[in-house]
Amino acid sequence: MNTSDAERLATVLKQLGYQETNNEKEADLIGVIACSVRQAAVDRIYGKLREWQLVKVKRPLITLLSGCVLPQDRKKFKDKFDLFIDINHLDHIATDLKNLAPEEKLALSDFFSIDPSYQSDYRAYVPIMTGCNKFCTYCAVPYTRGREMSRPSGQIIDEVKNLLSQGYKEIILLGQNVNSYGLDRKEEIKFPELLKKIDGLGKNFWLKFLTSHPYDMSDELIATMSKAQNLSHYLHLPVQSGSDAVLKKMNRHYTVAHYKKLIKKIREAIADIAISTDIIVGFPTETEVQFKETLKLVKEVGYNTAYFAQYSPRVGTAATKMFKDDVPKTTKKKRWQELNKLIGQQSLNFNKKLIGKTALVLIDQNEKIDKNYLNLGKLANYTTVKINTSKPLKIGGFVKVKITKALNWGVEGAIIKK
Ligand code: SF4
Repeated sequence: MNTSDAERLATVLKQLGYQETNNEKEADLIGVIACSVRQAAVDRIYGKLREWQLVKVKRPLITLLSGCVLPQDRKKFKDKFDLFIDINHLDHIATDLKNLAPEEKLALSDFFSIDPSYQSDYRAYVPIMTGCNKFCTYCAVPYTRGREMSRPSGQIIDEVKNLLSQGYKEIILLGQNVNSYGLDRKEEIKFPELLKKIDGLGKNFWLKFLTSHPYDMSDELIATMSKAQNLSHYLHLPVQSGSDAVLKKMNRHYTVAHYKKLIKKIREAIADIAISTDIIVGFPTETEVQFKETLKLVKEVGYNTAYFAQYSPRVGTAATKMFKDDVPKTTKKKRWQELNKLIGQQSLNFNKKLIGKTALVLIDQNEKIDKNYLNLGKLANYTTVKINTSKPLKIGGFVKVKITKALNWGVEGAIIKK
């Protein structure tokens, strides 16, 4: 979602006459997209701000904060950023910038109808909704982005059609909770129907969606997924904790038993599906026994990968008001390391099972090393693939490979000659 936010912000700025640069030294304006969950990510902004203050002494520079910005962040960063922009109201940028740079003016539309300039010419992130009604206690989204708001399905379908006609190979539908797509609009189709329609728009592309909330994952959606032609056999299903008591404190609306039942149903419908998850370790009051329950669940589910973080209280969220951040940093770190080791083993086991299989790889980068090329790409299930070739492979193209070796972080593959 941060990538998609950044793409939309960049588009609006381009419409205002700015050009994108990867070199901060060249920038007249720097925009930061704040994270919804981790305070540590927000705090990292401070270091950058100090650098930018030094630049400002020498030349004009506008700094802008957007994304998940809580009132507390605004207070904290008051006087440090020149502008705060509500991500749902990027149309306000023109007016706000006008006060700083009077020559800029433009009429802009709302977030969804911005036609973004995508960072990639083969992989596109397409937002289908924004906001969330779940109110997990550690998360800022419901306060910063507001309640769930679905994008009209016609607009989404048009954007995907357009991307496919331009040759895009991977479409990733985005929302804080895609499973509740359409629930806020009586007249709108719901997520399984939307997925079916998008799946039917073409052939030979990869379709994915992020993120699913376990509470809202319906049987109808699982059945639709199992029949889809283009949908990657990959699902990101955040569990956050393997302890019912912690899940309750997180206000996640499901139990471990519900989650396990869901995984069973999904695997029965799509046997080779790769499942990844998000986990927070060291949530307030989490005991050693409760953490062990998380390890147990991770072992039982057998994720191919997981994204996990040590809890850092996001100031302004419910958790910071309800609980004391009482798990010592050293304990959080120890739990993180234990989980890291387990997930590493699981990834390696998952990768080993791929040896000997043939699969399509979408190439992301290549680099010349001595006389040969090291190409890196992704399988449909997001596993990274390393391929050595004598000529570089086309970035953004599909190649068929045979998996030859399992690595901790991915696999090696060899091109299959046609
Ligand atoms: S489901 Fe929870 S974590 Fe995800 S966006 Fe909504 S409130 Fe935040």
